Amino acid sequence: MSDDGLPPLREVIATHGLAARKALGQNFLLDLNLTAKIARRAGDIGACDVLEIGPGPGGLTRALLMEGARHVVAIERDARCLPALTEIAAAYPGRLTVIEGDALALDPLARLTPPIRVVANLPYNVGTELLVRWLTPPSWPPFWQSLTLMFQKEVAERIVAAPGSKAYGRLSILAQWRANARIAFELPARAFTPPPKVTSAVVQLDRLEAPRFPADAATLGRVVALAFGQRRKMLRASLRPLGDAEALLAEAGIPPTERAEQVSLEAFCRLSRAVEARAGARPPRPEATPG
Ligand code: SAM
Repeated sequence: MSDDGLPPLREVIATHGLAARKALGQNFLLDLNLTAKIARRAGDIGACDVLEIGPGPGGLTRALLMEGARHVVAIERDARCLPALTEIAAAYPGRLTVIEGDALALDPLARLTPPIRVVANLPYNVGTELLVRWLTPPSWPPFWQSLTLMFQKEVAERIVAAPGSKAYGRLSILAQWRANARIAFELPARAFTPPPKVTSAVVQLDRLEAPRFPADAATLGRVVALAFGQRRKMLRASLRPLGDAEALLAEAGIPPTERAEQVSLEAFCRLSRAVEARAGARPPRPEATPG
């Protein structure tokens, strides 16, 4: 028995026939000391509901509950894992809700009470998409206080990258504009069963109550997508679709010969405001005459 009175995870996997499936991104963490380390990184979970994506056999879920999470809502796509998760729910009455389904298709918010933290050893195939969604909600602040997420190390580096590095890009801007983002720790491939081909890292994102620099989210998103869409080109070329890119860059104090990866988040926000100001100054289009 483990500290929580439940069977060790290897036994759980054997009992329930949970051979890992590659298509579902299944690389399990079976060491409850490691999952406890992740749960502790999430901060004050005792006062929060926790959303977990992809609990699998439940190693991280058990750690979250042992560390005192008020309520865990876990979304799992693989129905084979449900009996094991039901056993955990029985050991922690009223504190674990398991939802079977695709995290990309489900909205669990009705089941969660704020404050909410998200903690997950994400399936790599859906991790980046979920992160982008969590960082680009219709309004800010978002439903979550913090995100504590496992990624491939290479993706983790893109999230926290500074200007001037190869990893710096759209994901860095999205994450750092409205959150404090840092790599908490790395995990070698051998920590997982089966081991993936890559090193992994846990990223901690704590939301800012307001964006770091003012800008309209949609405009900033468009500017950054254009700039990094052709990251080797000078900005005066990659931003041509904005119209008179040189004037906009001058207004934002950015040399037209810079490339996207040299431009700071603050400068991208200035550029975004210049684009907004120009859109605001443009005379409104004449109303279409009804046919
Ligand atoms: N949390 C467990 C752990 O740490 O050992 C399992 C992590 S494993 C990397 C990813 C988990 O996400 C698997 O259990 C997999 O079945 C599940 N999963 C994959 N795609 C999913 C999706 N779209 N929605 C919900 N769960 C998904």
